[in-house]
Amino acid sequence: MIDARLDTGRHSITATQTLVWTNAGGSAVDRLPFHLYLNAFKNESSLFMRGSHGEMRDAKATDSGWGWIQIESLQIGGVELAGKLEYPNKPDETVAELPLPQPVQPGTTIEVNFKFTAQLPEVFARTGYKGDFHMVGQWFPKIGVRVGPPGAEHWECSPFYATTEFFADFGTYDVTLTVPSTHVVAATGVLVKAVDMPGQTRTFTYHAEDVHDFAWMADPYMEPPLVGKAKVEGGDVEVRVYARKEQAAFARRHLQAAIGAIEKFSTYFVPYPWPIMTVIDPPVEAMFGAGGMEYPTLVTTAGDSVFLRPGIRLPEMVTVHEVGHNWFQGILASNEPEEAWLDEGVNEWADAHVMRDLYGARASGVDWKGWQADYGALRIAAGADPTTLPSPIAAAAYAFADEEAYGAATYAATNRALSTLEEYVGSAKFMAAMKAYAKEFAFKHPTGRDFYATLERELGEDLGWFFGPVFQEVGGIKLAVRSAECRAAHNARGVWGEGSTRKVTTETEAPDLGTYVCEVVIQNTGVVHVPVEIELEFADGTRQRVTWDDKAGGHWKRFTIERSSKLVAVNIDPDKKIALANPTQHRVRLEGDGSASLRAAARLASWAQTLMQVVGP
Ligand SMILES: [Zn+2]
Repeated sequence: MIDARLDTGRHSITATQTLVWTNAGGSAVDRLPFHLYLNAFKNESSLFMRGSHGEMRDAKATDSGWGWIQIESLQIGGVELAGKLEYPNKPDETVAELPLPQPVQPGTTIEVNFKFTAQLPEVFARTGYKGDFHMVGQWFPKIGVRVGPPGAEHWECSPFYATTEFFADFGTYDVTLTVPSTHVVAATGVLVKAVDMPGQTRTFTYHAEDVHDFAWMADPYMEPPLVGKAKVEGGDVEVRVYARKEQAAFARRHLQAAIGAIEKFSTYFVPYPWPIMTVIDPPVEAMFGAGGMEYPTLVTTAGDSVFLRPGIRLPEMVTVHEVGHNWFQGILASNEPEEAWLDEGVNEWADAHVMRDLYGARASGVDWKGWQADYGALRIAAGADPTTLPSPIAAAAYAFADEEAYGAATYAATNRALSTLEEYVGSAKFMAAMKAYAKEFAFKHPTGRDFYATLERELGEDLGWFFGPVFQEVGGIKLAVRSAECRAAHNARGVWGEGSTRKVTTETEAPDLGTYVCEVVIQNTGVVHVPVEIELEFADGTRQRVTWDDKAGGHWKRFTIERSSKLVAVNIDPDKKIALANPTQHRVRLEGDGSASLRAAARLASWAQTLMQVVGP
């Protein structure tokens, strides 16, 4: 329960908070850790500022806009304990720990009463203000999560790093928000009542169940929301989009995308469990800082730009992605600091399905003036920066070298890995397995291990050969044509037998048969080995496919084919089923002395192909 009042001049919040926490584990608890996320923006000594240098996604911190949270009072049973708070990661102050006078025994409940002030930063990383717009996230003291086997639990309460997001327990939130009566408010959960108070303020009361966070927005210029309904199993979901007047055209696009996304994600995984979804479209000046963030039942979107005409679906992509988080971050709620890929990457993979279902397979990303592109191909092309430091996907979010490495592994590589596995087992089977995973682990904080085990069980195959190298190792799939050449076929020539029986077979006796023997060597210098199809194109226009069943981990494979026509091209993975493979070395044309031109031809063809994939009609 939180009672908060926003000072729009200072951009600060004063609040009281009552936390009722039950020890659901099997071991006693003698300390309570709390996230104080806003202290990430307090000074340049925070882990967040040391990691981000005050920049995130094209938004920058401002020198006048520091943010912090101060706990003025913390009481248990009427005893003041604020002075006992410890900061275990000093000088970082994003986690505070309270040693308890008495342990909380298993099955018992403790009530903690806070008084705090939250100073919002000028927004550059999800939370804060920009002018009169206030996006309030990560703003209250939030208890950590007990994890681990019963009887041997430990606290999970990660400090706030530049590359980490959030992990929290599910709970019930009753929050009252008092703001100037000029302000439009939107928040997590359902509005229970709005009451005008003396002094030209208004108090909004919100209620939310089975959520692990609470965020809100206050702004005097927001229009009344656009409202629509998403139909899901178990009842309709009210969808609201808040935008300022000048963004009204985009608000309509976000509303349609949000409705579509809720309906699709509900059928793929589990039905959306809450009665409402609120989408905030931040004003353009706050778009990079506050846009594109997910909270339970409330997301912020982005992408409003005059260049993004209807049909260039970037605004829709952002909304689909953020709404999609309500499944992987909101319902499944894996530990993002430790295993961000279970949220961001799995979401990316699912987003491509939603976009294709909503807008058609070929034009799911762009469909504008004859230009079409698939969302999935766009995302994979955008994520394929060869200068990024390769890192294993299954790494803690704070353990990546930089934001680029984190993004490439967590978003792009996970998406490519899941797409590859989906192609390998078949899409329908894979979707069913993912649905089983979502059903089994809804509201249970699944780990990577849960994910692997569920997929193996549902797909009926030991997938260690895939999960190990793909998620734990660096190296990926690196397929290339090592060599490809044809010789005219004839029966064997040479000398046979010895002494008086020696016989010579000459060219005249074993003439060319008019056919060709072609040898193709395919190499994989990566660490991931999946079955690969190879298409061979011959001069007479015929094609032949061969398969390299490379699950065993070979590094090369030779194919020998006899045909009446010369080989002219080799196309590895012609249907692009292996999203994990680097697409730039896949098609090779043989001209004259084929082997000499392999590399250059490969590079050229690949560029053309990537271009076609991204923008081609
Ligand atoms: Zn995301």
